[in-house]
Amino acid sequence: MSELRDLYQQVILDHNRAPRNFKEIEGANRSASGHNPLCGDELKVTLHVSEDGLIDEVGFHGSGCAISKASASLMTEAVKGKTESEVEILFEKFHDLVTGVNETPDRKDLGKLVAFQGVREFPSRVKCASLSWHTLRAALKDDAEGASTE
Ligand code: ZN
Repeated sequence: MSELRDLYQQVILDHNRAPRNFKEIEGANRSASGHNPLCGDELKVTLHVSEDGLIDEVGFHGSGCAISKASASLMTEAVKGKTESEVEILFEKFHDLVTGVNETPDRKDLGKLVAFQGVREFPSRVKCASLSWHTLRAALKDDAEGASTE
């Protein structure tokens, strides 16, 4: 198990060091900003949704702690090519995983996102890990208010 834990930490460290899709999407048709005042994480998610409802481009930028940055990076990889309803399903699984509301979360389809399971032991970090997801959902709903974890 500790080997697995090390592997998870590697995934988070790697995505913090070299975040994927760390950019503003040119010609984005949805965007939202997210803020986690508890930790000071601020990020913006921009994306392009195709006419048939697929997220064909997604990026994020901003500043935040390692967990928020790695989570946003992994999220962009996980949601690319998905529809809004597929994103909702994935978000719920991810949310169960990080909050620990469900003792045995459904890890199927989460892929590398399971790296964040350890976050459930640190309640203040749950907001860091879920900020990018809340921001993406605000963007998909075209919510000008953006997302705040408070
Ligand atoms: Zn944070």
